Amino acid sequence: MRLPLLRGLSLDELQDICVEVGLPKFRAGQVFEWVQAKGAGAWDEMKNVPAAVRDALAGVLDLSPVEVLKTQVSREDGTRKYLFRLEDGQTVETVLMLYERKVARDRATVCVSTQVGCAMGCAFCATGLGGLVRNLEAGEIVGQVLDIIRHVRQEDPEFRVTNVVFMGMGEPLQNYANLLSAINLFNSPKGQNIGMRRLTVSTCGIVPRILDLARDNPQVTLAISLHSARDEVRDRLVPMNRHYPLQELMNACRKYIEITNRRITFEYALVKGVNSGTQDARDLVRLTKDLLCNINLIPVNAVSETGLERPSEADTAEFARILSESGVEISLREEKGSDIDAACGQLRKRQGGEYLVLNGKV
Ligand code: SAH
Ligand code: SF4
Repeated sequence: MRLPLLRGLSLDELQDICVEVGLPKFRAGQVFEWVQAKGAGAWDEMKNVPAAVRDALAGVLDLSPVEVLKTQVSREDGTRKYLFRLEDGQTVETVLMLYERKVARDRATVCVSTQVGCAMGCAFCATGLGGLVRNLEAGEIVGQVLDIIRHVRQEDPEFRVTNVVFMGMGEPLQNYANLLSAINLFNSPKGQNIGMRRLTVSTCGIVPRILDLARDNPQVTLAISLHSARDEVRDRLVPMNRHYPLQELMNACRKYIEITNRRITFEYALVKGVNSGTQDARDLVRLTKDLLCNINLIPVNAVSETGLERPSEADTAEFARILSESGVEISLREEKGSDIDAACGQLRKRQGGEYLVLNGKV
C-alpha cells in the first residue's frame, strides 16, 4: 500500500503521526519546516533531525519529490513550464511566471494544477480535451510549488514564490478537500507563508462549492471563469453553465462577497465572433455593474483542436472601452509563455517525448 504523502500533511496531522510512532511532538514542527519552508526532498537533508527519528517517519510517510520530466523556458518572457511525473506515471504541467516590478520586490507566481485532465469540457481549453483522469492529492499540489522552488534555488538561493494561482490543469472546486489543504499549507507561517490574498482559486462556476468556499472563508481571491453574460453563449463555452446558469452563479457570487467581503475577479476570454461584440460588452456591464468585482480580459489563446480565434486588436480595445466607460474595473491579462504553450488553457497531459527543451540550462 502507498504511504501518505508527507508534503500534504498539516502540522497537526504530522504531530499526531509523531505521537503514533512514539516520537515527541516537537519533531513534527522540525520536519514540517524542512518540508514546507525549506523544500527538503529527501529525509537526509533534515540536518537537525536525528537519523532514528527520520527512519521512524520514513517507515510511515512518503517524501518523494514529484519528478521533473522536462522544463521549457519562454524566449519571450522567461516563463517556465514544468512537466511533472507523478508516482503513478501520470503527468501534469505547472507554470512559473516572473514579473519584474520597479518598487515592490519581484513577483514570482506559480500556476498549479489540481487534477490530471479535467471533466468540464470548456470549448476553448486544451486541458479538458482528454477528460478527467484523477484528482491530485494535496501533497501533489503543494509538491509542484516546492519542487519548482528547489529547482530555481539551484541557480538563485534567495528565490521565493510570492503568489500561487490554482489555474493550471483541472477544476479546483471539483477537488475541494485537497484544495483547502493545499491553501492552508501554502499559507502556513511555518511553511511558505504566502498571504491568503496572494492565493487565487479559479473556477468555471460550481455553485455549491463556491458557497462552501464562502462558508469556509479562507480569504483567498476567487476568480470566476465567466466568458459570457448570456446563458445561450455560456452554455456552449462553459458546459457547467447548463447545470448552474448565470442567475444561480451570480447569486452565489453575491453571497460569496457578502460573507467574505472580498472582491471577485471575472475572467473573460475574448473569442472572435462568439462573445466579443459590442452587445456582449454591454450585457457584461449589466451583469456585473453592482458587484464588488473586477474583470480580467484575456484574448483567447490558441489551442489547435478548438478552432477558436481571438478578436482583432480593434475589437478587443472597443470591448474594453465599453466596460471602462461604464465604470467597470478591468485589466487586460498580460500574456505569458505563449511560445511554449504555457498560457491560460494551453496546459495538457503529455508524454515525456513530446517535449522540446528550449533552454538546456534549466
Ligand atoms: N478550471 C478552472 C481553472 C483552470 S483554467 C477554471 O476554468 O476557471 C484557468 C483560466 O484559463 C480559466 O479562466 C479558463 O477559462 C481560462 N482558459 C482556458 N482556456 C483558455 C484559452 N484557450 N484562452 C484563454 N483562457 C483560457
Ligand atoms: Fe477545466 Fe478550467 Fe479547462 Fe474548463 S477551462 S476545461 S474547467 S481546466
